[in-house]
Amino acid sequence: MKLQELRQTFEEVEAVIAAGPIVPEVTASTIRSYLEEHYLFENGLPLPSVVADIEAMLSKWQVQVTHPRYFGLFNPGVTFASVVADTLVAMYNPQLANWRTSPAANELERHTLQWLAKRFGLPPNTAASFTSGGSEANLSAVVAALTYSFPGYGEGGLASLNTKPALYMSEESHHGFLKIAHMTGLGRASVHLIPTDATQRLDVRALQQQVARDRTEGWAPFMVVATVGSTGSGVIDPLPDLAEFSRQQKVWLHVDAAWGGAAILSHHLGKHLDGIAFADSITCDAHKWFSVPMGAGMFFCRHPASLAEAFRADVSYMPRTTSEARDEDTVNPLAHSAQWSRRFIGLKLFLSLAERGETGYAAMIDHQAAMGNVLRETLVASGWELVNETPLPLICFTREGLQPSVLLAALRDRQIAWMSETVIAGRAVLRACITNYRTTETDVRWAVEEMNQIARELEAH
Ligand SMILES: *Cc1c(COP(=O)(O)O)cnc(C)c1O
Repeated sequence: MKLQELRQTFEEVEAVIAAGPIVPEVTASTIRSYLEEHYLFENGLPLPSVVADIEAMLSKWQVQVTHPRYFGLFNPGVTFASVVADTLVAMYNPQLANWRTSPAANELERHTLQWLAKRFGLPPNTAASFTSGGSEANLSAVVAALTYSFPGYGEGGLASLNTKPALYMSEESHHGFLKIAHMTGLGRASVHLIPTDATQRLDVRALQQQVARDRTEGWAPFMVVATVGSTGSGVIDPLPDLAEFSRQQKVWLHVDAAWGGAAILSHHLGKHLDGIAFADSITCDAHKWFSVPMGAGMFFCRHPASLAEAFRADVSYMPRTTSEARDEDTVNPLAHSAQWSRRFIGLKLFLSLAERGETGYAAMIDHQAAMGNVLRETLVASGWELVNETPLPLICFTREGLQPSVLLAALRDRQIAWMSETVIAGRAVLRACITNYRTTETDVRWAVEEMNQIARELEAH
């Protein structure tokens, strides 16, 4: 593949996005009537003009999450190498359902996953796979934990158990687990939300009390979810305490590090993840802080046998492993994960990592953490109040007498930055997360100056 032209295109797109609006003003009916007018699919159209048209639509009709002042929801600016990877994958279209069909791709993924498993401190026989995202990884964790804890679950289903499995997580955890409880048949009521302490971290004493109470009421606690980098306030649950609790109580510890997991690569931040090595399973998204395009999560599991049991499948029609490969420890992903036909998801992380190296990645993470600190300092210096506490670059803040939604609307209208709102201790506050390795100090300082200006205007009213 010739990279030069693609690199030029990538850089042009980057420049166009950085110079343009961050938030679109468009309605569904505008887009629908445009499509109905131009794309009835009756006759073919020249590809170059359609591509140009699509690029025009994407550049004006979406929130530009790769904009350096998109201070948003964990959606990253993407590396060029990861874009090359997605292009290569589409062209060669490897099928990773079984090992024999795509030995190279399967081993490239295995190599990448084992590298990260080792960084997390997981044992060498850890099972791992790329997933569509954090939600699939979290789903895999629940299915594996149920299979591990309740031997009758796989064949007889939950109905065959004469107990009610319960899983525990803090109120700040990702609410995707409620969908997972619904999908697995656990039911949403089996997700027991534990209050947080004053710093929005799971309150371990409240967890202890709830689990003890639940055991007397016929529940069977089987899983605790610890979050590394919660969506609202970016906090890290107390991993060592939760590891100890899970060991004592014989429950599965799942660490949902969908966003924050990449911090393990940083010398400054890595220590805040101490205890993650005790996890039974870990979710970590490549499409968040590893700065690759959407559709790339990762799932790590300390119990390969439970995964093999959970996702076993009769594949008599699949190509056999050759005799020389049979002796090796190769696995067919379709029988160890939720997906069947499987895209070569892992190349975007592999290629990006190969180009930048672990030190390059650590520098990207550290840069974003540093930009988070610049944002904190600049806000405090101009009289804003910080309301969350985390080493990760997610800042929740407010100002006396200011309504967050009014400020956000002004930021969007003036195309200054994209931020969001969250609720901390019952109070609506602003939330800004640095998710782009290209965000500069100038971006941050300028955005704060503009916010100061808006706040002054609002106060004058
Ligand atoms: C993003 C996120 C998820 C969901 O992952 P997707 O990749 O969006 O499917 C789950 N948990 C946490 C903590 C997250 O940050």
